[in-house]
Amino acid sequence: MDPGRAALLHRIAERYSTPTYVYDLDAIGDRVARLRAALPTAELLYAVKANPCGAVLRHLAAAGLGAEVISVGELARARRAGFPEGRILLGGPRQDPPLVAAAWGVGWVSLDNPSQWRGWQRFAAREGAPRFLLRLNPGLDPRTHEHLATGAARSKFGMPFGELAALGAALGEHLAGFHVHIGSQITELGAYEPVFAQLGALLTRFPHADTLDLGGGFAVPGFALPEFSARVRAFLAQVPFRRLLLEPGRFLVAESGVLLTRVLHVKEGPVRHVIADAGMADLLRPALYGAQHPVRVLGAADGASGSADLDGPLCENADRLARGVALPALTPGTLLAVEQAGAYGFAMASNYASSLRPAEVVVAGGEVRLARRRETPDDLVQLEL
Ligand SMILES: *Cc1c(COP(=O)(O)O)cnc(C)c1O
Repeated sequence: MDPGRAALLHRIAERYSTPTYVYDLDAIGDRVARLRAALPTAELLYAVKANPCGAVLRHLAAAGLGAEVISVGELARARRAGFPEGRILLGGPRQDPPLVAAAWGVGWVSLDNPSQWRGWQRFAAREGAPRFLLRLNPGLDPRTHEHLATGAARSKFGMPFGELAALGAALGEHLAGFHVHIGSQITELGAYEPVFAQLGALLTRFPHADTLDLGGGFAVPGFALPEFSARVRAFLAQVPFRRLLLEPGRFLVAESGVLLTRVLHVKEGPVRHVIADAGMADLLRPALYGAQHPVRVLGAADGASGSADLDGPLCENADRLARGVALPALTPGTLLAVEQAGAYGFAMASNYASSLRPAEVVVAGGEVRLARRRETPDDLVQLEL
């Protein structure tokens, strides 16, 4: 990390205490620019669940993106942040009557199953109705692609080809196109080929459907954007002109964010435990699916690195930010930056063990702004009657 950035993070930790999430809006803008350069015709719909911080959403709305939402709460946040209604896509398994009623007016709806269509049907003929996409379950092999579980036949998402084609016929003129989100952290881009084959067959069968939504799931780090772009372009060249949608979440925000945390205690033993003031309540991904986040020491650290667990402050074995990582000798108070924490970080933070969720700070053009203050004990009981 360059010294200027380390000094900035020190100032933020001094001013706002720890644990605190810091998002670099310029880095998010850079990822938007990279995606746009790679696939200029694609419309980008930011997957709000990756990081719903209002300052991040407003930045992306101002950059001209749309939003992908799956709940009443995400819809409300997207509208509040200024995403134009016509650039909001509602998807996901819920789509119950309250969500359908709230989402009236959005630009697109991705239907996950025929039951959802029964809920939307009475609105479909009205003026200003959303454009309907059908979500394909491509039946990928989750064992060969462990991150492709959402595209596996046994997953709850989408419809297999035959069922989707039947529903497409039932939608008739209301069918605008097809949607597929094959999973998260996709690195093996060959996984898209069987998906393209199925989408190609659907486009042949429904020539009036003009929209293709290829979802998100682009891995961080390590997504081969030029290769992805080449594969998508090659596929689009084989089908008549289509409107292309993408739903990037993690790719846009993950690397923009760090979680600042301070060392509380160090316990030597069979395993060296570095106990920090952030843990699974603040950043759940390591406990939830063994995610690995680089940890950087921002303070003075002496001596050679040795293996340590970076643990949180809660009474829970899974309360850990990193396992068996190389860390130098550390003393209480040392500032650490847990990196690549901008996606599914604060978004998954909880009040477990009455933890107070961290502050969120945004940096843009070197200017630091508090986006969300740290919670207080009063916040914990504020909704109780
Ligand atoms: C979660 C999700 C995304 C975003 O996934 P990332 O891995 O963050 O890019 C996009 N589309 C759908 C349907 C999703 O469920």
